[in-house]
Amino acid sequence: MHIITIECLYDNYSYLILTEDGKAAVVDPSEAWPVIKTLSERNLSLRAIWCTHHHHDHIGGIADLLDEYGDVRVIGFAGARAAINALSEVYEDGQQFDWDGIAVAVMHLPGHTETGIAFSFAGHIFVGDTLFGAGCGRLFEGTPAQMDNSLQRIAALDEQTNIYFGHEYTMVNLRFAGQVEPANEAISHRLHEVAGLRDKGLLTTPTTVALELRTNPFLRVDQPAVIAFAAHRLGRQPRDRVEVFGAIREARNSFS
Ligand code: ZN
Ligand code: FE
Repeated sequence: MHIITIECLYDNYSYLILTEDGKAAVVDPSEAWPVIKTLSERNLSLRAIWCTHHHHDHIGGIADLLDEYGDVRVIGFAGARAAINALSEVYEDGQQFDWDGIAVAVMHLPGHTETGIAFSFAGHIFVGDTLFGAGCGRLFEGTPAQMDNSLQRIAALDEQTNIYFGHEYTMVNLRFAGQVEPANEAISHRLHEVAGLRDKGLLTTPTTVALELRTNPFLRVDQPAVIAFAAHRLGRQPRDRVEVFGAIREARNSFS
């Protein structure tokens, strides 16, 4: 299995997943042309589209891809059927589907949207806008409790798992993370590294569970420094981890 990152729109990522014999699936095609370009350079045709959630910047390319390639499996969450008309194959949380002999698992991760999912196989997980490098998605439809729970499910995967996210927000997320935990050296180290990558036009995806556990404030809501940051925002001690989570998510909303 070979994974290729495709830059779309302003800061979106779509991902191509290629089997040994050249069958291609694309995760979250924001727009069609960069996907078609990448496939035609390799003389490949598209067999499947995997949809993490219904936002336009993740499904905007589907119609044109279906026009171009015809018979394509469009795979997503059963609960997203109403929101993504093109879905032809849907799964529930915990179900798996076959992608050329590999079992791909579907994980329901509400928070950014109510019906968001991740796809995982063999040490890789595609999370859409649930987790970003050193951050997480905005709570458009879900609650802090849901998002915290969804992120905890990702955090519980093997530490070496590669996490493929939907937007390049890592740099600003790390600047925010540094405000939440000024004494966390893993954050300052990663900030330095990511600044170097971005200066060269390089990408920060994928990340890993291990790296996020050390540097992502939304996976660190039980850390004293993160609790202290939330307490400062709230003007009192947070009652529980969900309140910590909610307070730092709020703070991130107004940070740029
Ligand atoms: Zn989204
Ligand atoms: Fe998005």
